[in-house]
Amino acid sequence: TQRVVIIGAGIVGVNLADELASRGWSDITVVEQGPLEMPGGSTSHAPGLVFQTNPSKSMTLFAKYTVEKLLSIDCFNQVGGLEVATTQARLAELQRKHGWATSWGIETHLLDAGECLRRYPLLDRDMVLGGLHIPTDGLALAARATQLLMQRSAAAGVSYLGNTPVVGIDRADGHVTGVVTPTATIPADIVVSCAGFWGVEVGAMVGLTVPLVPLAHQYAKTSVVPGLAGRNELPNGAGLPILRHQDQDLYYREHGDRYGIGYYGHKPMPIVAATLGVTGDHVDEHNMPSRLDFTPEDFATGWKASQELLPDLRDCEIADGFNGIFSFTPDGGSLVGESPEVAGFWVAEAVWVTHSAGIARALAEVLTDGRSQICLADCEISRFEEIQFAHSYVQETSQQNFVEIYDILHPLQPKESPRNLRVSPFHARQRELGAYFLEGGGWERPYWYEANAGLLDRLPEEWRSPERDSWSARFYSPIAAAEAWKTRTAVAMYDMTPLRRLEVSGPGAVDLLQRLTTGDVSKKPGAVTYTLLLDHAGGIRSDITVARLDEETFQVGANTPVDLVYLSREADRLRHESPQRWAQVRDITGGTCCIGLWGPRARDVLSSISSDDFSNDGLRYFRAKRATIGGVPVTAMRLSYVGELGWEIYTGADNGQRLWDVLWEAGQPHGVIAAGRVAFNALRLEKGYRSWGADMSTEHDPYEAGVGFAVKPAKEDFVGKAALEGRSEATASRRLRCLTVDDGRSVVLGKEPVRYAGEAVGYVTSAAYGYTIGRPIAYAYLPATIGEGDHVEIEYFGRSIAATVAAEPLVDPEMKRLRG
Ligand code: FAD
Repeated sequence: TQRVVIIGAGIVGVNLADELASRGWSDITVVEQGPLEMPGGSTSHAPGLVFQTNPSKSMTLFAKYTVEKLLSIDCFNQVGGLEVATTQARLAELQRKHGWATSWGIETHLLDAGECLRRYPLLDRDMVLGGLHIPTDGLALAARATQLLMQRSAAAGVSYLGNTPVVGIDRADGHVTGVVTPTATIPADIVVSCAGFWGVEVGAMVGLTVPLVPLAHQYAKTSVVPGLAGRNELPNGAGLPILRHQDQDLYYREHGDRYGIGYYGHKPMPIVAATLGVTGDHVDEHNMPSRLDFTPEDFATGWKASQELLPDLRDCEIADGFNGIFSFTPDGGSLVGESPEVAGFWVAEAVWVTHSAGIARALAEVLTDGRSQICLADCEISRFEEIQFAHSYVQETSQQNFVEIYDILHPLQPKESPRNLRVSPFHARQRELGAYFLEGGGWERPYWYEANAGLLDRLPEEWRSPERDSWSARFYSPIAAAEAWKTRTAVAMYDMTPLRRLEVSGPGAVDLLQRLTTGDVSKKPGAVTYTLLLDHAGGIRSDITVARLDEETFQVGANTPVDLVYLSREADRLRHESPQRWAQVRDITGGTCCIGLWGPRARDVLSSISSDDFSNDGLRYFRAKRATIGGVPVTAMRLSYVGELGWEIYTGADNGQRLWDVLWEAGQPHGVIAAGRVAFNALRLEKGYRSWGADMSTEHDPYEAGVGFAVKPAKEDFVGKAALEGRSEATASRRLRCLTVDDGRSVVLGKEPVRYAGEAVGYVTSAAYGYTIGRPIAYAYLPATIGEGDHVEIEYFGRSIAATVAAEPLVDPEMKRLRG
């Protein structure tokens, strides 16, 4: 049995101990620097509001489980939640939120102003325009739950050590071996840091950068509120829904006859946990390391806004307040996962009370079975790019997330700063062409090019896209229609540089990839294979393209940094198992670049500047070869994510601009343009190409996701094969389906609920306007009983949009364009 040490007895650490113990783990020690009765971390003073709905499906489901678990131990006061709108923009935002909740299976109700007042009579009559009511939200009794779970897990055999700071972590051979305290070393095979905002310091003990920033956040209690007098049990009873007034960065709960008010409107107040000193023996509600003195001047605006929203407060004052500390991260998500460098060292940090039990369960599942039922990708600590671990990046973006925590954010809205962290070698040319850039993974990625605006005059009527509503029109330009048109009818250059590229090489490279992928990659050099990485239960970890460049060298087109970590870790394992047949994995993204040259005229362009054979026989579909184009040495792969004739053309970053220039010049007689991601996304959906993360994840098997063709059951063995035994498209209970929008004009963006016969049955994964087919497209997971020709409705900002399940792909089902 493996020995586990958990660092931190806050709500996360204790939940994890409990979840592991209930799965039969028998050697668990929880080490806590503070006294166990009140450890003094963020949990010790958390007011415990649980609003479950989140744009992330996983986070919502983690919250849902937390509610269920806390209810089961009588530590949840299910008063419901109410989010109110005082602006039209917020009112629309609540409709969108209602959509997410419906998509993820949380019951919510949109209320008009009168209904808000009936549910919450203390609200000002004139301010509130409407609201969202969530009956299952409420108050977690976090400190009490921590104590109860501690008792329960201790009874199941978990050891708890209080007043014991962890001061070091022992390692040998790249693996943790023990946890060092001032008096002893506790041997361990697995160490999980649940140290909350001390995560940075604990991570540093093994050289792991934990990208979080502890920030102070203000919480105040009022004097007795006339309207609350006599309503609740004292001191902390509550009966009204927990309340959010996000237009002013405020939230509220009752504490008996007083209000507790949380405020995010003040300036970010970053802290360095190490400066807070060691938690003493004397921790009480007013004296704990996670609690700093209240700064009333920072609360003044929030107090005024509170008195406006809740007129009863006009006769009250602030009785008590503090600046409480908890963690913020670069993208607002939690941090869960194993250190890529030190095996056996795990973290579960930057986790709210709201998600605590859900994330603890997921991690316990990962430690027990190697995977969690609910996808952890949004929390994976390895999801960040190298540059995103930089101190300055973590500080700036995490603080910005504090500022924006209640803001209405468009799904495409980029950070304004820091920008230009990563640019492709084509950047200068893209700027000359008026590229409109959005940021992803630190990369500047063109969405469209203003230089193509002139094409709109010549755009045939049937290619024109309808006008959009103001929300879907953001970060959008109709120029994308012209770019799609040119890609389908002439030729376009797409910057594919930001797509992750890995080189897998060595005598064991083929063994490694054969073991991990669902396809046969052992073909002759020159073959390219679209294949999947599955987990042991058959869930899709990633989809990749594997090009065999020579016997021992593969170029892999992958997705997130997590793919790199996974392949590297498996390569290490292989090296230990069979030192002769080693493989190494290298991220070559930054040192290389790629242009997708696609369109019916693509071959005309290449043949004018290359003496290599790019004819259909010279380089067949899904084949790769080294070549020279306009004097630039390249690797060309006959692939196209947009479904047109053409190649992904790779070269070294140093040759990139030259490659762009020669293609651009040679393309002029053929009408070449540069095209951006808006057109790209539309064209890929027309072809039915899935995007990992949006359209599929570990929660889906290949048959549900519609990528069963990439599984080769005849192959001897691969990770996930056994789990797929007996499964097929026919046995899948839900399927990713292609919908087209009946009115031909209503574009949705993703995550919207889909209804069938009035019932919410699924949600949209990806969506775009399909320029080639002249109507919007949405992909959605639906029960398998709903098939082609069936009519469904997509809910978009409270509006019902009729759509029909279509046969896919919508464009070129015979593959004539690709294989031509
Ligand atoms: P903690 O509770 O901080 O536990 C970490 C533990 O690790 C601590 O007890 C610490 O002593 C221990 N530790 C650290 N380093 C070491 C070491 N080297 N050795 C041994 N032990 C160590 N969340 C919500 O969901 N809803 C809310 O309404 C809400 N309101 C909040 C209001 C305020 C004012 C604040 C500050 C936070 C709020 N939060 C809320 C956030 C929430 O409190 C935290 O996200 C959550 O409590 C974190 O739990 P944790 O177990 O990760 O961390």
